Amino acid sequence: MAKIFCIANQKGGVGKTTTTVNLAAGLAQIGQRVLVVDLDPQGNATMGSGIDKRKLELTVYDVLLESASLPEAKARAEKAGYDVLGANRELAGAEVELVELERREARLKAALAAAGPDYDFILIDCPPSLSMLTLNGLCSAHGVIVPMQCEYFALEGLTDLVNTIKQIHANLNPDLQIIGLLRVMFDPRITLQQQVSDQLKAHFGDKVFDTVIPRNVRLAEAPSYGLPGVVFDPSSKGAQAFLDFAKEMVKRIGTMR
Ligand code: ADP
Ligand code: MG
Repeated sequence: MAKIFCIANQKGGVGKTTTTVNLAAGLAQIGQRVLVVDLDPQGNATMGSGIDKRKLELTVYDVLLESASLPEAKARAEKAGYDVLGANRELAGAEVELVELERREARLKAALAAAGPDYDFILIDCPPSLSMLTLNGLCSAHGVIVPMQCEYFALEGLTDLVNTIKQIHANLNPDLQIIGLLRVMFDPRITLQQQVSDQLKAHFGDKVFDTVIPRNVRLAEAPSYGLPGVVFDPSSKGAQAFLDFAKEMVKRIGTMR
């Protein structure tokens, strides 16, 4: 059965989508069957996997509103080697429409449960908010991966997310746990980043992933080619780091309760 992970952080531009598509591609390269679910109306994970969001007839929106099934709505990211349940602007409307519906926070969970046997990993790219969409993601998942930049306010921003996860764990999804904090866009030459990194480790211990993703321009260039960096330039430092991270994830979930 698939292990389901949300890539979440309520801040924008922290590397959620980059982490989602590159971890997916890295996992695919080591033989894992992967589905990426794009829960952000911006559709960056969809485009960054080489799927044109404007041409999609069915998306995660249809699955959330139960007008299509996951097998009907998924697409194949051929070059990246994984499946994608895509998103586009239409998804922004789901936020309002879901509020009216029953089981509104558990729609995605039901759809993904049916797909469990088809995948080893399902990675959900969350929008930068703690909205109904993110709630659907967190209610579906076994764990959360939190990408973060080692900046001055990083720890402060984490508090809201950690509290939300605790509440969901207590009330809606007893499976949910933080799998780990992933340090991204890291530049070891910047003393402050090194200090925040040390603080993170002191505070969160082994909840901080060993792998560190460096700031690497190839990772930033890759989406404009419709490819994860891992596929776009496999020899780049960024790609190598995400491959290491994929291996670390496989190892870590082997020991997950
Ligand atoms: P989010 O999904 O959290 O909004 P993104 O993954 O879209 O964040 O990343 C924000 C921006 O930073 C994008 O332009 C992306 O290409 C760039 N970026 C992300 N990770 C890296 C990295 N390790 N090195 C360089 N640029 C990065
Ligand atoms: Mg994003």
